Amino acid sequence: MSLGDEWRKRDRRVLWHPFTQHNLWEREEFPVIERGEGVYLYALDGNKYIDGVSSLWVSAHGHNHPVLNQAIMVQLSRIAHSTFLGLSHRPGIELAEELIRIAPERLSRVFYSENGASAVEIALKIAFQYWQQKGEKQRNKFICFENAYHGDTVGAMSLSAVSIFNQIYKPLMFEVLRAPTPVCHRCPEEKSCKDQEWECFAKLKEIVDKHNLEIAGIFIEPMVQCAGGMIIQPKGYLKALETLCREYGILFIADEVAVGLGRLGKMFASELGFVQPDILVLGKALGAGYLPIAATLTTEEIFSAFLGKHHSDKTFFHGHTYTANPLACAVAIAGLKLMKDEKRLDNVQARAKQIEKWVPKFNQLETVFRFSHLGLLAGIELMKDKTTLEEFPAEEMIGFQVARAARKRGAILRPLGNVVVLMPPLIISESELDELMEITFESIKDVSKGRDTALPVQMNNKK
Ligand code: PMP
Repeated sequence: MSLGDEWRKRDRRVLWHPFTQHNLWEREEFPVIERGEGVYLYALDGNKYIDGVSSLWVSAHGHNHPVLNQAIMVQLSRIAHSTFLGLSHRPGIELAEELIRIAPERLSRVFYSENGASAVEIALKIAFQYWQQKGEKQRNKFICFENAYHGDTVGAMSLSAVSIFNQIYKPLMFEVLRAPTPVCHRCPEEKSCKDQEWECFAKLKEIVDKHNLEIAGIFIEPMVQCAGGMIIQPKGYLKALETLCREYGILFIADEVAVGLGRLGKMFASELGFVQPDILVLGKALGAGYLPIAATLTTEEIFSAFLGKHHSDKTFFHGHTYTANPLACAVAIAGLKLMKDEKRLDNVQARAKQIEKWVPKFNQLETVFRFSHLGLLAGIELMKDKTTLEEFPAEEMIGFQVARAARKRGAILRPLGNVVVLMPPLIISESELDELMEITFESIKDVSKGRDTALPVQMNNKK
């Protein structure tokens, strides 16, 4: 038995993996990752893979970066953990200072957590409590978008669109007002919008007009709905949304867990859309691909609504045991410094232009229906027959088949349904990106030629 087989056997005996159907996991030759270096992952079997999804969109600076390793070691020699409830520490303070320095202007307070879903829940609870304490108790509804994804906890699921992944929990979720997402390539109105007169925006405005003073906030994944299939918003949409929010006094809540911190070629997606959120949510790349940390940033106006006379007056009673873990804060500070020192944004912009050059080649493939990209992210939507818009049936798990073919060719991809996702580390070089694009192209070609009819391993491939 090979080393890889031995560890796979041990895994199958005791583990329960996220988003995984274990009956199928039994038969899957999943790589057991041993180490990483730059954009590459190395498995126990001796195989080397280019990390095409930055280990679930987190590993901005690549694996085993000496500066990040050092930042953790220095902090480790001081203290690994100390609570943020009743105490404070330098890395927690320094990270918040840096986030406030670089974040969109109006944001001035940082509340830490450990993952995107928790940071979204915190935004939700803060927004709700804010209006309760401002004396506008009727503002208790949230507008969210179709196709949205904000995480897997019950509050974050309620904000997310109903899908095969969460529908079973529907009785546990609270109601939200659901607005149509601008999905221009599949507009149900079948019109191309001139002068930013989007039909979907008019529908959103109807909801706002109808519920007006009942609305606490709008949650949006600014610029791109990532987990929903890499759906890019039309130019000007975010700004129009912000204007609407200001007009009606609705809190504008930007979930930048996936798109924040350089992924789109600017530090924040809000910057790209010229908007100033009231609440901004960060996660994923904040921990530099090393340790779990997330943050919910708010304005001073929101923060001051929580100032009370005594402990139980207006306090935000929320916190997790490992909130602001010092090791995670230390690596996050080092990651933000690397963004600047190693000119990450310049690389993202150069690589984005490189992706652009590949688009016509992909579009020639029979099964490629849409190639959406912005900064260093791309979604390639596959379709059985793009002339008749016939979809691949979900059971065929075409995206997963491409990921499996890519693995054989030396790249790790993780699709979203029929959309092949590319989210490589922000450090990726020109030649490494060409390698990833070539593997992806050939894998889509392989799968389009002779589709693998064996059942794929993961029934669900969200995230
Ligand atoms: N919000 C967005 C926009 C996301 O893309 C994700 C994860 N894909 C989350 C929230 C949830 O983050 P986490 O998986 O860290 O809970």
